[in-house]
Order: sequence, then structure tokens, then C-alpha cells
Amino acid sequence: MTSDIDTWQTDNPTCPWCGAQDKNWWEHRELQSDGSELTVTCGFCAKDYTILMHISYAFDTWKRQETLTEEIERAEKKLARLDERLEAVRTKGVPKHLQDMDIDAGQLARDYFQDVARTDRELQNLYRERSQLQESGQWEAIDGN
Ligand SMILES: [Zn+2]
Repeated sequence: MTSDIDTWQTDNPTCPWCGAQDKNWWEHRELQSDGSELTVTCGFCAKDYTILMHISYAFDTWKRQETLTEEIERAEKKLARLDERLEAVRTKGVPKHLQDMDIDAGQLARDYFQDVARTDRELQNLYRERSQLQESGQWEAIDGN
């Protein structure tokens, strides 16, 4: 490893003797991964120096928009899950993992019921949107279905 570093984290390997930058560093096949080390001869002053390569990462992300079909599927699944929970509260009472939280079955059933109603409204809107698109002939172009 290097003992006395002369130039630090530069964009191109920089000759520590004369300061010339090696802008064609990517032509060195040895410099390919983080920690790669290579001794080269400076093309300008002809002295030798050693390069240590650092690679860093950066990331971009963006939201993936759901298609209408996916939105509908998600809402349908949520509704089915809520129905199951509501039915479970009716038949078995408050689930074990919620019993410690001092929630009574009546309150829980009301909460689930509200959620069911809200999800159902959402789903009806999505269905309406879908049939409008289907009627206007835009459905295939938009959702590819
Ligand atoms: Zn040099």
C-alpha cells in the first residue's frame, strides 16, 4: 500500500512529481475496481508514480406509477383483507396481538368498517374510471389490456 500520499481523491490520476493529469487513465486495464493499484510512468515528466483507484456510487430513484389495473387489484386485495379482519372480529373478537392495547371489539369493528367503506368508495371510483376509458375506446392504449 501507499505510505506517503501526495495527491488526494482527484478526478484524474495526477502525477505527484509534476502535477500532470492522466485523463486517459481508463485505458489502463489494471484500473478497474475499487482499490486497484498501478505504477505508471508520467507521460509528461517521465517519472514513476503509483495510482490507487477509488470508486464511489451514487443513485437516482423515481416513483413507478401504477397502472389503473394495478390500482384496482391493490384496492380489491385490501378490501378482501379488511373483510377477513372484520369477519374475524365478529366471530373471534379482538385478535391476540391487539388485546394488550386495550382495544375493544366494537371499536375495532367500527374502524375496520370505516376502512372498508373508504376502500370500497375508492374501488368504485377506479371501476368508474376504467369503464369510462373502456367506453371511450382509450382503455387499450392506456393500460395495454
Ligand atoms: Zn509527471
